[in-house]
Amino acid sequence: MTGADDVLALIVRGPRQHELERMPRPVPGPDEALVAVTHVAVCGTDLRLLRGTLHDAEYPVIPGHEWAGRVLAAPARPELVGQAVVGEGITPCGRCAPCGDGRHNLCLDLDEVGFTRAGAFAEAFTVPAANLRPLPPGLTGAEGCLLEPLCVALHAVERAPDLAGRDVGVIGAGTVGLLIGQLAVAAAARSVTVAEPSAHRRVVAGELGIASCGALSDWADDQPDVVFDATGVASVFPQGLEATRPGGDYVLVGYSGAETTPSAPSTIMLRELTVRGVLSGYDQIDEALRVVATGAVRLRPLLSDPIPMARYRSVLEEQAEPPLRSVFVTGVE
Ligand SMILES: [Zn+2]
Ligand SMILES: [Zn+2]
Repeated sequence: MTGADDVLALIVRGPRQHELERMPRPVPGPDEALVAVTHVAVCGTDLRLLRGTLHDAEYPVIPGHEWAGRVLAAPARPELVGQAVVGEGITPCGRCAPCGDGRHNLCLDLDEVGFTRAGAFAEAFTVPAANLRPLPPGLTGAEGCLLEPLCVALHAVERAPDLAGRDVGVIGAGTVGLLIGQLAVAAAARSVTVAEPSAHRRVVAGELGIASCGALSDWADDQPDVVFDATGVASVFPQGLEATRPGGDYVLVGYSGAETTPSAPSTIMLRELTVRGVLSGYDQIDEALRVVATGAVRLRPLLSDPIPMARYRSVLEEQAEPPLRSVFVTGVE
């Protein structure tokens, strides 16, 4: 840390206005924990936050919702101090209609680390203590960062029909796509194929035991009947619908911001497709820890080597889309 009373944090003041700045070390409220961040990963949504293409971003904000760290203080849970932890990122209000329906990730007044509250791209940040889980000894902090996207993947699979015996297609071999692919294999899908133009990402898919092809047109002769769109690219949507077997399910998990795309509603009508949206996980972190512990899901092949936090700008600005999840280290132990 830079001093006992201040921490370095990535402060985003507006689109493309961001800097590592020193700021006072946050003070945890009675139900919060102060966490020293050891690792923080950056996903496509964070890049949108930095670039100003997130449709409802509020600035200034400290990004970072995929993280691992160590508890420095927790007034209501002193037993956590010194513990290596990961955490649930969202805190629903518990009072609105979606919360009443049990759809907590759709809460109308959601408090979300890295979006509505300060995130983990900092040497330390605060988080509700109830959201924390111990990082299992077998997992590195870098791997711990991927539990959040794994929760998204678990929720995507939960939104889909039972995958056992189905032909599953995944569009996009990014982190979430390859996590969904691994979950589909573990769920005894009859086949799992990821469509991905990047040869590098297809190699990673292969390392994880997932078949791949370079283009959606390769599915033409034998279309999958459950398709996950994990691209976050709006123009993929109409093509993905066309590439899904008639009567199949299309699960939209990638976030494409405010982008629009021409698409014919009749594609859904004529093929009797079922289209489902996936926003984020909630209450899945224990299941995420379980599927990693069983070995059903491997995280290491999805991660970059650790990158010093001070190098964030070159990494995030120079690479249009990093091949693997970029994981930054703060230098805090
Ligand atoms: Zn993310
Ligand atoms: Zn709510």
